[in-house]
Amino acid sequence: MTTGTKAKKPIRTFYQEPTKSYSPPKEYNFGELIPHADSGSRASLIESLIKEHSSTYELMEPHLDPLPYLNKVHAPEYVEALEACSKKLQESEESNAWFFPSVFRVNQEFNRQHVQSNKHVGYYAFDTFTPVGEETFNQASRSAQSAVSAMDWMLNNNESFAYALCRPSGHHACHDYFGGYCFFNNAACAAERALETVKKVVILDVDYHHGNGTQSIYYDRKDVFVINVHADPAKVFPYFAGFEDEVGTGEGEGFNLNIIAEKDIQTHDYVEILENRVKPALLNFKPDVVIVSLGVDTAATDPLGDFGLTEDSFEAIGRFIKSINVPTVTVQEGGYDVASISKYVHAYMTGYLQGETA
Ligand SMILES: [Zn+2]
Repeated sequence: MTTGTKAKKPIRTFYQEPTKSYSPPKEYNFGELIPHADSGSRASLIESLIKEHSSTYELMEPHLDPLPYLNKVHAPEYVEALEACSKKLQESEESNAWFFPSVFRVNQEFNRQHVQSNKHVGYYAFDTFTPVGEETFNQASRSAQSAVSAMDWMLNNNESFAYALCRPSGHHACHDYFGGYCFFNNAACAAERALETVKKVVILDVDYHHGNGTQSIYYDRKDVFVINVHADPAKVFPYFAGFEDEVGTGEGEGFNLNIIAEKDIQTHDYVEILENRVKPALLNFKPDVVIVSLGVDTAATDPLGDFGLTEDSFEAIGRFIKSINVPTVTVQEGGYDVASISKYVHAYMTGYLQGETA
């Protein structure tokens, strides 16, 4: 139990300032060309929050090379292809050029792998929302670097909490294809770093959208238990995964848990799901480490979501994570109400710091 007099440790926050702004200009969304929701101001707002509350957060330099983890989580040819795409765009005469996936391989009988231009990038993509730019490989690698470094630091120092301020997000990125604004699966990279030291990891994904990438990467494994609480995929992205009867396969059977939350869900019902469904399953697994994929697009004000969560809800989620009493790395996923995302992330961290261990 924490005491009122004991000084709280700051939230160690792993983040690298982008070398160049990373801001996809537009996305092709169900027949409409619209401004991209993953705007460049998302990460800088969270960063400014850290500066405003300097006694709560301590910025840490990501120190660990992400490449071995990228190549473990993803097909090495996929990692190489993304690097090649970004390099090609850097060499392009056109300024701020992007590759927009439009043609996809799906399950075709013939699948010639080659990514040479805008025309071919769909080989590694599953939607038209996620263009590849000249900074994509750098930024996605740095994002994964923050996640693996947070885990490495926490385990090496026998600490109990760290925050990886990742952008782009990662939880929709699969073994060898990208989508949903995600290229490399940051939470999975952190899990692979953890498994070098410990035996069992839980990834708890509380983003509004189902983390289809994380689920697919660990679907047949029993060392990483993936738990998702999310909106009904029959109605919202990613549409084709995230149903409650998806429970894992082979050795992984029983180690994938999907919980669908209803539209407009409020704090009380959300916390009830965490306490009554997530907690027993999570504790029963006896994880050495928990990774929280934190999306704040569950907020009532989020333009992409339809949940009803508020600042109080995020505080409650933070307190819940603390009550689990397992070392935790929180990895940033979505959240698109740019004016308020920092407030929501701060509420989660405040809740964690105020929480008590079970
Ligand atoms: Zn999301």
